[in-house]
Amino acid sequence: MTALPSYEDWQLRAACRGHSAAIFFAPSHFERKSAKLEREARAKAVCAACPVRRECLAHALRFHEAHGIWGGLNEDERRLVAAR
Ligand code: SF4
Repeated sequence: MTALPSYEDWQLRAACRGHSAAIFFAPSHFERKSAKLEREARAKAVCAACPVRRECLAHALRFHEAHGIWGGLNEDERRLVAAR
């Protein structure tokens, strides 16, 4: 028997499938603020049309995802949501 990767149903419907992860996560090298804002805007545009945005954000908050754009929010924005 072959083990298949385990995905939650919402992940299979994610609008970011097929998009480069590079727009959702910071590069390993220094990133200027202007480049970060531009990269995040591109990622957030994908999220804005995502049918599972709510599930994605809930997942990120539940598992304390520390990096990247999840549910249309970056890490700082998620911290603000979590603090409410
Ligand atoms: S909300 Fe954004 S990061 Fe989350 S699954 Fe949808 S497109 Fe991907």
